[in-house]
Amino acid sequence: MTQAPPIGPATRLLHAGTPPLRGGSGPVNVPVVRTSTVRFADTAAYADHHHRRVAGERVASYGRHGLDTHRALEDAVTALEGGHRAFLTPSGLSAITLVLLALLSPGDHALVADSVYSPVRRVDATLLQRLGITLEYFSPSQDDLVAKIRPNTKLVYLESPSSLLYEVLDLPALTAVARAHGIPVATDNTWSGGWFYKPLQLGANLSIQAATKYIAGHSDVMQGIVVADSPALAAKLSTAYEALGLTIGADDAYLALRGVRTLPVRLAQHQRHATEVAQWLHRQPQVGRVFYPALADDPGHALWKRDFTGASGLVSFVLEGADQQQAETFIDALQFFGIGASWGGYESLALIAAPERLREHSAWNGTDPVVRLHVGLEDPQDLIADLGQALVRAESQSQLAVAA
Ligand SMILES: *Cc1c(COP(=O)(O)O)cnc(C)c1O
Repeated sequence: MTQAPPIGPATRLLHAGTPPLRGGSGPVNVPVVRTSTVRFADTAAYADHHHRRVAGERVASYGRHGLDTHRALEDAVTALEGGHRAFLTPSGLSAITLVLLALLSPGDHALVADSVYSPVRRVDATLLQRLGITLEYFSPSQDDLVAKIRPNTKLVYLESPSSLLYEVLDLPALTAVARAHGIPVATDNTWSGGWFYKPLQLGANLSIQAATKYIAGHSDVMQGIVVADSPALAAKLSTAYEALGLTIGADDAYLALRGVRTLPVRLAQHQRHATEVAQWLHRQPQVGRVFYPALADDPGHALWKRDFTGASGLVSFVLEGADQQQAETFIDALQFFGIGASWGGYESLALIAAPERLREHSAWNGTDPVVRLHVGLEDPQDLIADLGQALVRAESQSQLAVAA
Protein backbone atom coordinates (compact mmCIF):
# COMPACT_ATOMS: atom_id res chain seq x y z
CA MET A 1 0.00 0.00 0.00
CA THR A 2 1.33 3.44 -0.84
CA GLN A 3 1.41 5.96 1.99
CA ALA A 4 -0.55 9.20 1.69
CA PRO A 5 1.77 12.18 1.13
CA PRO A 6 2.27 14.36 4.23
CA ILE A 7 -0.26 17.17 4.60
CA GLY A 8 1.07 20.74 4.55
CA PRO A 9 0.76 23.00 7.60
CA ALA A 10 -1.86 25.35 6.10
CA THR A 11 -4.06 22.43 5.02
CA ARG A 12 -3.81 20.92 8.49
CA LEU A 13 -4.65 24.24 10.12
CA LEU A 14 -7.62 24.97 7.88
CA HIS A 15 -9.15 21.53 8.32
CA ALA A 16 -8.55 20.99 12.05
CA GLY A 17 -11.78 21.11 14.04
CA THR A 18 -14.07 20.99 10.97
CA PRO A 19 -17.40 19.41 11.96
CA PRO A 20 -17.97 15.85 10.69
CA LEU A 21 -20.59 15.13 8.03
CA ARG A 22 -23.75 13.61 9.49
CA GLY A 23 -26.31 11.91 7.26
CA GLY A 24 -24.43 13.02 4.15
CA SER A 25 -23.90 16.72 4.90
CA GLY A 26 -22.72 19.21 7.45
CA PRO A 27 -21.79 22.88 7.94
CA VAL A 28 -18.33 24.16 7.04
CA ASN A 29 -18.07 25.90 10.39
CA VAL A 30 -18.58 24.50 13.84
CA PRO A 31 -21.71 25.90 15.55
CA VAL A 32 -21.36 28.33 18.43
CA VAL A 33 -22.52 26.13 21.29
CA ARG A 34 -23.57 28.58 24.00
CA THR A 35 -24.50 26.60 27.05
CA SER A 36 -23.82 26.70 30.75
CA THR A 37 -24.71 23.08 31.33
CA VAL A 38 -25.16 19.71 29.65
CA ARG A 39 -28.17 17.37 29.83
CA PHE A 40 -27.85 13.58 30.08
CA ALA A 41 -30.26 10.78 29.20
CA ASP A 42 -29.85 9.07 32.57
CA THR A 43 -27.69 8.98 35.66
CA ALA A 44 -25.46 6.29 34.16
CA ALA A 45 -24.61 8.56 31.18
CA TYR A 46 -23.91 11.44 33.56
CA ALA A 47 -21.59 9.31 35.70
CA ASP A 48 -19.84 7.92 32.62
CA HIS A 49 -19.09 11.40 31.25
CA HIS A 50 -17.88 12.60 34.61
CA HIS A 51 -15.47 9.68 35.02
CA ARG A 52 -14.10 9.97 31.50
CA ARG A 53 -13.44 13.68 31.99
CA VAL A 54 -11.71 13.16 35.32
CA ALA A 55 -9.55 10.50 33.63
CA GLY A 56 -8.36 13.18 31.17
CA GLU A 57 -10.73 12.76 28.22
CA ARG A 58 -11.97 15.99 26.64
CA VAL A 59 -15.69 15.35 27.22
CA ALA A 60 -17.92 17.91 28.90
CA SER A 61 -20.29 17.33 31.79
CA TYR A 62 -20.70 21.05 32.45
CA GLY A 63 -20.50 24.28 30.44
CA ARG A 64 -17.29 25.45 32.08
CA HIS A 65 -15.43 22.57 30.41
CA GLY A 66 -16.40 23.92 27.01
CA LEU A 67 -18.29 22.17 24.23
CA ASP A 68 -17.93 21.70 20.47
CA THR A 69 -16.75 25.24 19.65
CA HIS A 70 -14.06 25.03 22.30
CA ARG A 71 -12.97 21.54 21.15
CA ALA A 72 -12.65 22.73 17.56
CA LEU A 73 -10.47 25.69 18.55
CA GLU A 74 -8.36 23.46 20.83
CA ASP A 75 -7.82 21.07 17.92
CA ALA A 76 -6.85 23.90 15.57
CA VAL A 77 -4.33 25.52 17.92
CA THR A 78 -2.92 22.12 18.93
CA ALA A 79 -2.31 21.46 15.22
CA LEU A 80 -0.88 24.97 14.82
CA GLU A 81 1.68 24.58 17.60
CA GLY A 82 2.26 20.86 17.00
CA GLY A 83 1.52 19.86 20.59
CA HIS A 84 -0.46 17.37 22.64
CA ARG A 85 -3.27 19.44 24.19
CA ALA A 86 -4.42 23.08 24.29
CA PHE A 87 -6.00 25.13 27.08
CA LEU A 88 -8.09 28.23 26.36
CA THR A 89 -7.96 31.13 28.82
CA PRO A 90 -9.71 34.52 29.08
CA SER A 91 -6.57 36.54 28.16
CA GLY A 92 -2.94 36.11 27.21
CA LEU A 93 -1.87 37.14 30.69
CA SER A 94 -4.14 34.53 32.31
CA ALA A 95 -2.48 31.89 30.08
CA ILE A 96 0.90 32.95 31.49
CA THR A 97 -0.40 32.94 35.08
CA LEU A 98 -1.95 29.49 34.54
CA VAL A 99 1.44 28.08 33.53
CA LEU A 100 3.22 29.69 36.50
CA LEU A 101 0.63 28.46 39.03
CA ALA A 102 0.39 25.00 37.47
CA LEU A 103 4.14 24.34 37.64
CA LEU A 104 5.39 26.29 40.67
CA SER A 105 4.84 25.67 44.38
CA PRO A 106 6.01 27.49 47.52
CA GLY A 107 9.81 27.24 47.77
CA ASP A 108 10.26 26.80 44.01
CA HIS A 109 12.48 28.96 41.83
CA ALA A 110 11.97 29.83 38.16
CA LEU A 111 14.31 31.49 35.68
CA VAL A 112 12.70 34.09 33.44
CA ALA A 113 14.24 35.84 30.42
CA ASP A 114 14.66 39.51 31.40
CA SER A 115 13.16 40.66 28.09
CA VAL A 116 9.72 39.05 28.55
CA TYR A 117 6.34 40.74 28.32
CA SER A 118 6.55 43.13 31.23
CA PRO A 119 3.32 42.23 33.13
CA VAL A 120 4.95 38.87 33.99
CA ARG A 121 6.90 40.89 36.55
CA ARG A 122 3.64 42.16 38.03
CA VAL A 123 2.36 38.59 38.45
CA ASP A 124 5.66 37.90 40.21
CA ALA A 125 5.49 40.96 42.51
CA THR A 126 1.79 40.81 43.36
CA LEU A 127 1.01 37.08 43.47
CA LEU A 128 3.96 34.69 43.26
CA GLN A 129 6.10 36.38 45.93
CA ARG A 130 3.15 36.18 48.32
CA LEU A 131 3.03 32.42 47.64
CA GLY A 132 6.74 31.96 48.39
CA ILE A 133 7.68 31.40 44.73
CA THR A 134 10.86 33.08 43.47
CA LEU A 135 11.29 34.30 39.92
CA GLU A 136 14.81 35.27 38.90
CA TYR A 137 15.52 37.16 35.67
CA PHE A 138 18.44 36.18 33.47
CA SER A 139 19.97 37.77 30.39
CA PRO A 140 18.65 35.23 27.95
CA SER A 141 21.97 33.53 27.13
CA GLN A 142 22.99 29.92 27.59
CA ASP A 143 25.85 30.84 29.96
CA ASP A 144 23.65 32.92 32.24
CA LEU A 145 21.05 30.14 32.34
CA VAL A 146 23.65 27.55 33.33
CA ALA A 147 25.03 29.88 36.01
CA LYS A 148 21.64 30.61 37.59
CA ILE A 149 20.04 27.14 37.74
CA ARG A 150 19.46 26.05 41.35
CA PRO A 151 18.41 22.67 42.79
CA ASN A 152 14.87 24.07 43.25
CA THR A 153 14.55 25.57 39.74
CA LYS A 154 11.28 24.17 38.41
CA LEU A 155 10.64 26.23 35.27
CA VAL A 156 12.45 28.22 32.60
CA TYR A 157 10.21 30.90 31.10
CA LEU A 158 11.14 32.57 27.80
CA GLU A 159 9.79 34.72 25.01
CA SER A 160 11.31 34.88 21.53
CA PRO A 161 11.54 37.32 19.90
CA SER A 162 11.25 39.43 23.05
CA SER A 163 8.65 42.10 23.67
CA LEU A 164 9.45 45.63 22.37
CA LEU A 165 12.97 44.95 20.98
CA TYR A 166 12.46 41.50 19.35
CA GLU A 167 15.69 39.90 20.53
CA VAL A 168 15.82 36.38 19.09
CA LEU A 169 16.79 33.72 21.63
CA ASP A 170 18.73 30.55 20.84
CA LEU A 171 15.84 28.32 21.86
CA PRO A 172 17.44 24.94 20.97
CA ALA A 173 20.50 25.86 23.08
CA LEU A 174 18.45 27.10 26.06
CA THR A 175 16.06 24.15 26.02
CA ALA A 176 19.01 21.72 25.81
CA VAL A 177 20.39 23.18 29.07
CA ALA A 178 17.00 22.97 30.78
CA ARG A 179 16.41 19.42 29.53
CA ALA A 180 19.77 18.30 30.90
CA HIS A 181 18.54 19.48 34.34
CA GLY A 182 15.02 18.04 33.91
CA ILE A 183 13.43 21.51 33.95
CA PRO A 184 10.43 22.22 31.70
CA VAL A 185 10.56 25.26 29.40
CA ALA A 186 7.58 27.51 28.66
CA THR A 187 7.81 30.18 25.99
CA ASP A 188 5.57 33.02 24.84
CA ASN A 189 4.94 32.59 21.10
CA THR A 190 2.57 35.51 20.56
CA TRP A 191 4.91 37.36 18.14
CA SER A 192 4.72 34.61 15.51
CA GLY A 193 1.06 33.70 16.01
CA GLY A 194 2.33 30.12 16.11
CA TRP A 195 2.68 30.21 12.33
CA PHE A 196 6.26 31.40 11.77
CA TYR A 197 7.77 29.68 14.81
CA LYS A 198 7.30 26.24 16.38
CA PRO A 199 8.86 26.30 19.86
CA LEU A 200 7.62 22.80 20.74
CA GLN A 201 9.68 21.45 17.82
CA LEU A 202 12.74 23.33 19.10
CA GLY A 203 12.67 21.77 22.57
CA ALA A 204 10.18 23.90 24.53
CA ASN A 205 7.48 22.04 26.47
CA LEU A 206 4.77 24.69 26.66
CA SER A 207 3.91 27.32 24.08
CA ILE A 208 1.82 30.27 25.24
CA GLN A 209 0.04 32.84 23.11
CA ALA A 210 -2.11 35.89 23.57
CA ALA A 211 -4.73 34.80 21.01
CA THR A 212 -5.95 38.37 21.48
CA LYS A 213 -3.23 39.27 18.95
CA TYR A 214 -2.68 37.40 15.67
CA ILE A 215 -4.85 34.34 16.23
CA ALA A 216 -8.05 36.35 16.67
CA GLY A 217 -6.50 38.96 14.38
CA HIS A 218 -9.30 41.54 14.33
CA SER A 219 -8.90 43.38 17.66
CA ASP A 220 -12.25 42.04 18.85
CA VAL A 221 -11.41 39.26 21.35
CA MET A 222 -9.37 38.85 24.55
CA GLN A 223 -8.01 35.32 24.79
CA GLY A 224 -5.01 33.17 25.69
CA ILE A 225 -3.86 29.68 24.77
CA VAL A 226 -1.37 27.27 26.26
CA VAL A 227 -0.30 24.22 24.26
CA ALA A 228 1.46 21.41 26.17
CA ASP A 229 3.78 18.94 24.47
CA SER A 230 3.03 15.92 26.71
CA PRO A 231 0.25 14.19 28.67
CA ALA A 232 2.17 14.72 31.93
CA LEU A 233 2.33 18.51 31.53
CA ALA A 234 -1.25 18.62 30.22
CA ALA A 235 -2.39 16.85 33.40
CA LYS A 236 -0.66 19.47 35.58
CA LEU A 237 -2.19 22.31 33.58
CA SER A 238 -5.60 20.65 33.66
CA THR A 239 -5.57 20.47 37.46
CA ALA A 240 -4.71 24.17 37.84
CA TYR A 241 -7.12 25.18 35.05
CA GLU A 242 -9.97 23.42 36.87
CA ALA A 243 -9.00 24.82 40.27
CA LEU A 244 -8.91 28.38 38.91
CA GLY A 245 -12.30 27.90 37.24
CA LEU A 246 -10.93 29.08 33.90
CA THR A 247 -13.11 29.02 30.82
CA ILE A 248 -13.94 31.19 27.79
CA GLY A 249 -17.24 31.99 26.10
CA ALA A 250 -18.25 30.02 22.99
CA ASP A 251 -18.59 33.23 20.97
CA ASP A 252 -14.98 34.14 21.70
CA ALA A 253 -13.86 30.60 20.86
CA TYR A 254 -15.68 30.93 17.54
CA LEU A 255 -14.07 34.30 16.73
CA ALA A 256 -10.60 32.90 17.47
CA LEU A 257 -11.33 29.85 15.31
CA ARG A 258 -12.41 32.11 12.47
CA GLY A 259 -9.16 34.02 12.92
CA VAL A 260 -7.10 30.82 12.75
CA ARG A 261 -8.43 30.05 9.26
CA THR A 262 -6.86 33.20 7.79
CA LEU A 263 -3.77 33.34 10.02
CA PRO A 264 -1.32 32.25 7.28
CA VAL A 265 -2.49 34.85 4.73
CA ARG A 266 -2.78 37.68 7.23
CA LEU A 267 0.68 37.02 8.62
CA ALA A 268 2.23 36.81 5.14
CA GLN A 269 0.78 40.25 4.39
CA HIS A 270 1.84 41.74 7.77
CA GLN A 271 5.33 40.47 6.99
CA ARG A 272 5.39 42.06 3.52
CA HIS A 273 4.17 45.41 4.81
CA ALA A 274 6.35 45.44 7.93
CA THR A 275 9.44 44.55 5.89
CA GLU A 276 8.76 47.47 3.53
CA VAL A 277 8.23 49.85 6.45
CA ALA A 278 11.32 48.56 8.32
CA GLN A 279 13.53 48.92 5.23
CA TRP A 280 12.23 52.44 4.65
CA LEU A 281 12.76 53.44 8.31
CA HIS A 282 16.30 52.08 8.07
CA ARG A 283 17.09 54.68 5.38
CA GLN A 284 15.73 57.71 7.27
CA PRO A 285 18.32 60.07 8.82
CA GLN A 286 16.11 60.72 11.91
CA VAL A 287 15.95 56.99 12.68
CA GLY A 288 18.61 55.09 14.64
CA ARG A 289 18.40 51.35 15.13
CA VAL A 290 15.45 49.53 13.62
CA PHE A 291 14.41 46.40 15.51
CA TYR A 292 13.10 43.78 13.07
CA PRO A 293 14.80 40.37 12.91
CA ALA A 294 14.13 39.97 9.18
CA LEU A 295 16.53 42.91 8.46
CA ALA A 296 19.94 41.55 7.46
CA ASP A 297 21.84 43.68 10.01
CA ASP A 298 19.57 42.89 12.97
CA PRO A 299 21.68 41.08 15.63
CA GLY A 300 19.09 38.28 15.77
CA HIS A 301 18.96 37.80 12.00
CA ALA A 302 21.05 34.62 11.77
CA LEU A 303 19.05 32.85 14.52
CA TRP A 304 15.80 34.12 13.02
CA LYS A 305 16.77 32.70 9.63
CA ARG A 306 17.66 29.37 11.20
CA ASP A 307 14.56 28.94 13.42
CA PHE A 308 11.73 31.02 11.90
CA THR A 309 9.87 30.89 8.60
CA GLY A 310 8.76 34.53 8.65
CA ALA A 311 8.44 37.78 10.59
CA SER A 312 5.36 39.51 11.91
CA GLY A 313 4.08 43.08 11.81
CA LEU A 314 5.93 44.48 14.84
CA VAL A 315 8.71 46.98 14.14
CA SER A 316 10.39 49.17 16.75
CA PHE A 317 12.89 51.95 16.09
CA VAL A 318 14.97 54.59 17.84
CA LEU A 319 14.12 58.24 17.19
CA GLU A 320 17.75 59.31 17.19
CA GLY A 321 18.59 62.32 19.32
CA ALA A 322 14.92 63.08 19.94
CA ASP A 323 13.49 63.98 23.33
CA GLN A 324 10.25 62.70 24.82
CA GLN A 325 8.30 65.70 23.53
CA GLN A 326 9.45 65.15 19.95
CA ALA A 327 8.54 61.49 20.22
CA GLU A 328 5.07 62.52 21.35
CA THR A 329 4.80 65.00 18.46
CA PHE A 330 5.78 62.20 16.09
CA ILE A 331 3.14 59.81 17.43
CA ASP A 332 0.44 62.48 17.59
CA ALA A 333 1.11 63.48 13.96
CA LEU A 334 0.37 59.95 12.65
CA GLN A 335 -2.94 59.59 10.86
CA PHE A 336 -3.20 55.92 9.99
CA PHE A 337 -1.61 54.51 13.14
CA GLY A 338 -3.92 54.35 16.12
CA ILE A 339 -2.31 55.22 19.44
CA GLY A 340 -2.79 52.22 21.65
CA ALA A 341 -1.54 49.12 23.38
CA SER A 342 -1.96 45.62 21.97
CA TRP A 343 -1.37 44.63 18.34
CA GLY A 344 -2.06 41.73 15.99
CA GLY A 345 -5.28 43.11 14.49
CA TYR A 346 -5.66 44.19 10.88
CA GLU A 347 -4.92 47.81 11.75
CA SER A 348 -1.73 49.77 12.37
CA LEU A 349 -0.87 51.00 15.86
CA ALA A 350 1.93 53.07 17.39
CA LEU A 351 3.22 53.67 20.91
CA ILE A 352 6.30 55.11 22.62
CA ALA A 353 7.92 52.20 24.49
CA ALA A 354 8.06 53.04 28.20
CA PRO A 355 11.76 53.61 29.13
CA GLU A 356 11.37 51.68 32.40
CA ARG A 357 10.17 48.65 30.43
CA LEU A 358 13.07 48.89 28.00
CA ARG A 359 15.50 49.06 30.94
CA GLU A 360 14.31 45.61 32.08
CA HIS A 361 16.09 44.18 29.00
CA SER A 362 19.75 43.56 29.83
CA ALA A 363 20.54 44.03 26.13
CA TRP A 364 19.26 47.63 26.14
CA ASN A 365 21.30 50.62 27.30
CA GLY A 366 19.94 53.36 25.05
CA THR A 367 18.45 56.68 26.15
CA ASP A 368 16.72 57.94 22.98
CA PRO A 369 12.98 57.25 22.64
CA VAL A 370 11.89 53.96 21.08
CA VAL A 371 8.70 53.81 19.02
CA ARG A 372 6.86 50.52 18.58
CA LEU A 373 4.75 50.08 15.47
CA HIS A 374 2.32 47.37 14.62
CA VAL A 375 2.25 47.45 10.83
CA GLY A 376 -1.26 46.55 9.71
CA LEU A 377 -2.84 45.56 6.43
CA GLU A 378 -3.33 49.10 5.04
CA ASP A 379 -1.49 50.01 1.82
CA PRO A 380 2.17 50.23 2.86
CA GLN A 381 2.82 53.34 0.74
CA ASP A 382 0.20 55.18 2.82
CA LEU A 383 1.81 54.03 6.06
CA ILE A 384 5.24 55.11 4.81
CA ALA A 385 3.97 58.53 3.70
CA ASP A 386 2.31 58.93 7.10
CA LEU A 387 5.51 58.03 8.97
CA GLY A 388 7.46 60.41 6.69
CA GLN A 389 5.28 63.44 7.41
CA ALA A 390 5.32 62.66 11.15
CA LEU A 391 9.14 62.47 11.17
CA VAL A 392 9.27 65.89 9.48
CA ARG A 393 6.84 67.31 12.06
CA ALA A 394 8.91 65.96 14.97
CA GLU A 395 12.13 67.29 13.44
CA SER A 396 10.76 70.76 12.70
CA GLN A 397 9.74 70.98 16.34
CA SER A 398 13.38 70.57 17.37
CA GLN A 399 14.44 73.28 14.90
CA LEU A 400 11.81 75.61 16.37
CA ALA A 401 13.15 74.80 19.83
CA VAL A 402 16.71 75.65 18.70
CA ALA A 403 15.56 78.90 17.06
CA ALA A 404 13.60 80.03 20.13
C1 LIG B 1 -0.39 41.11 24.69
C2 LIG B 1 0.59 40.10 25.14
C3 LIG B 1 0.29 39.24 26.18
C4 LIG B 1 -0.97 39.36 27.00
O1 LIG B 1 -2.13 39.16 26.29
P1 LIG B 1 -3.53 39.77 26.79
O2 LIG B 1 -4.53 39.03 26.00
O3 LIG B 1 -3.47 41.23 26.51
O4 LIG B 1 -3.64 39.49 28.26
C5 LIG B 1 1.21 38.26 26.49
N1 LIG B 1 2.38 38.15 25.82
C6 LIG B 1 2.71 38.99 24.83
C7 LIG B 1 4.02 38.83 24.14
C8 LIG B 1 1.83 40.00 24.45
O5 LIG B 1 2.18 40.85 23.49
